[in-house]
Amino acid sequence: MKLVAATGNAHKLQEIRAILQGYTVVSEKEAGYSGDVEETGETFLENALLKARAVCKATGLPAIADDSGICVEALSGAPGVHSARYASKDGKNSSDESNRALLLHNLQGEENRRAWFTSAVALVFPDGGEVTAEGRTYGRILDKETGEGGFGYDCLFFSDDLQKSFGEASPEEKNKVSHRGRALQALAAKLEEQR
Ligand code: IMP
Repeated sequence: MKLVAATGNAHKLQEIRAILQGYTVVSEKEAGYSGDVEETGETFLENALLKARAVCKATGLPAIADDSGICVEALSGAPGVHSARYASKDGKNSSDESNRALLLHNLQGEENRRAWFTSAVALVFPDGGEVTAEGRTYGRILDKETGEGGFGYDCLFFSDDLQKSFGEASPEEKNKVSHRGRALQALAAKLEEQR
């Protein structure tokens, strides 16, 4: 099955391709889509559906979207759905560096570092069919950036499963336990059931 990944994030595209190996996953660009969907939803799932529906409608292809972020216990779940624009002053996305710096700043002196990544994935078909799934992965926020790999908050997240930061993990190690890996595996299982 050919799917278009409704994301402009090259890291996410790579992860989606690596995890959904039985599918041909093309990028938005390859499918001729250059729009930008406003993430106005209040939940990860609402935002994933907004993105997948828009790209499916524009391209006529089944579209898969992920909406994800990091939730920190001591910050009552923030930055959560605002993860991509955490350090922003104008509501637009802020750089990964500024988001990480703000997170470290807001956790200065905080002993409770528990955190989890969440991913909601939505696959929307041209006939209106929709399949969704969610995944989580748990860990804690480090005091400083550790590791060179990954993207976003990876180098600040010490994974319970891997016992190292996502920034230190190989792509294969991360994909096995990551929120997006788990959400996509759950989605793939639902698709198999429906076959
Ligand atoms: P989205 O692209 O609107 O879903 O925003 C996702 C936000 O959460 C971005 O700031 C990402 O950097 C962050 N994020 C989501 N997944 C990951 C991950 O696997 N590693 C690190 N940061 C992530």
